[in-house]
Amino acid sequence: METIIKKVDPNAINEETIWQAGEILKQGGLVAFPTETVYGLGANALDEEAAKKTYEAKGRPSDNPLIVHIAQLQALNEIANGIPVETMRLAHRFWPGPLTMIFKKKEKVPYGTTGGLDTVAVRMPSHKIALALIEAAGGYVSAPSANTSGRPSPTEASHVAQDLNGKIDMILDGGNVEIGVESTILDMTVTPPMILRPGAVTREMLEDVLGEVAVDKTLLSDTDRQAPKAPGMKYRHYAPKAQLMIVEGEVAEAVKAIKQIAYEQTRLGYSVGIIATSETMKQYTVGSIKSIGTRENEASVARNLYRILREFDEEEVQYIYSEAFAVEGIGTAVMNRLMKAAGHHTLQADSITRLQKYRRVVFVSESDNCRGPMAALLFRKQPLLQEYVVMSRGLVVLFPEPVNQKAEAIVKSKQLTMAAYQTTGLAAEDITDDTLVLTMEERQKQKVREAFPQAEHVFTLPEFVEDGEEVPSPYGEPLVRYGETYELLEKLVKKLAEKLNEEARKL
Ligand code: AMP
Ligand code: MG
Repeated sequence: METIIKKVDPNAINEETIWQAGEILKQGGLVAFPTETVYGLGANALDEEAAKKTYEAKGRPSDNPLIVHIAQLQALNEIANGIPVETMRLAHRFWPGPLTMIFKKKEKVPYGTTGGLDTVAVRMPSHKIALALIEAAGGYVSAPSANTSGRPSPTEASHVAQDLNGKIDMILDGGNVEIGVESTILDMTVTPPMILRPGAVTREMLEDVLGEVAVDKTLLSDTDRQAPKAPGMKYRHYAPKAQLMIVEGEVAEAVKAIKQIAYEQTRLGYSVGIIATSETMKQYTVGSIKSIGTRENEASVARNLYRILREFDEEEVQYIYSEAFAVEGIGTAVMNRLMKAAGHHTLQADSITRLQKYRRVVFVSESDNCRGPMAALLFRKQPLLQEYVVMSRGLVVLFPEPVNQKAEAIVKSKQLTMAAYQTTGLAAEDITDDTLVLTMEERQKQKVREAFPQAEHVFTLPEFVEDGEEVPSPYGEPLVRYGETYELLEKLVKKLAEKLNEEARKL
């Protein structure tokens, strides 16, 4: 089947295109269209055969009911029975919008559409293209998300095409969606009404109208052995191809943990994706790092979630690690989808960060113009099992200078360079509680301990690797002494890497 793809500007809707799409639906065909939540795969909701086609195109299990989309409030009375009074208050407040309500169905809604249930899910979307299409199609459009079952929901027309090109009649491309996660589902057949799927209309917003609202217990945990009440929620959908893990804990701790795992996995040859935020993104160093949005506004996280999962599919990463989000407001919907995408695989950040004692190694010398930068240069070249921030600092640096010329001549003879380096004085912020401070001389160690009492791990380099006492300064000596310093440092730094790797292996 050739899929017609047409761009539609929601602010200047091409009526001919909508008419054409409406005709396709009336004749039992399938049209994907944008809504404010995600793209939907539209069919005539009152046509049993059209429902069958929907399931087929998506590869969706047929016990997973479809949501019927309407454009007029009266349409609700045509398809639902026993509509409770508070429905009108909810409809006035949240329709058109991202709220789906479940009612007893009327006979004219086929079981094909409701997955064999005696209830029907109804929503009035707010997207202008969606509303125009529903009208053009006769008023009742069933629409699950327009993705292949099991893949992340589509938030732009290209996602729909990736999954359904050739399997459906038409795609209306109305650009990116606004919300990015599926509608809130509220079961109106029980008292109090129960949230079966969290979305942009939050529990707090519903409580504001209804007073009391129940929540399906299975939404965030998988420990509950009960099946979720919305049939669709039991499937492992929203899922990327890679194994996704959510790292829980304080944000700073989660970042450390993800960095640590990403380094390790990359070293072992796996490709790793990282779901970061604009606040944390710059702290990551390895892996395919993507910002999902800002923690200041979790709606931005909802908007980008599925697109990012799809991008990782395209990059064919093998593991994805994601920071966790607060379970409040739209964050509840985000965490619900993330948890399902991860198959409920979570990691506790501190149980991982515990496994790395040092994250930073600072080599301290007198003026930071020879031994320190040389040691840092050599250490960075070592094969390390864990990731370290490596730097050198001096105890007496009055202003930044290039390194000593003889020191540079020696490293140059080894095809290395320190030419771009500027000497830097040791400052309090260089020493975090996971910093290993390694000085060249005993006297420098004492000086660091006096000036920076917060420094917990201060040793001379030879002392730490149990090989000698000091690395003497070659300053003022002939070039050959600089060469000897280089060789001594090379030996000690190799031992340092072995020692740190040994400790990492023990964990
Ligand atoms: P989708 O919009 O494609 O992600 O899927 C529609 C969701 O609505 C699925 O999770 C369905 O299980 C749920 N749903 C639709 N109709 C009903 C219903 N009558 N009772 C409970 N859940 C429903
Ligand atoms: Mg879906």
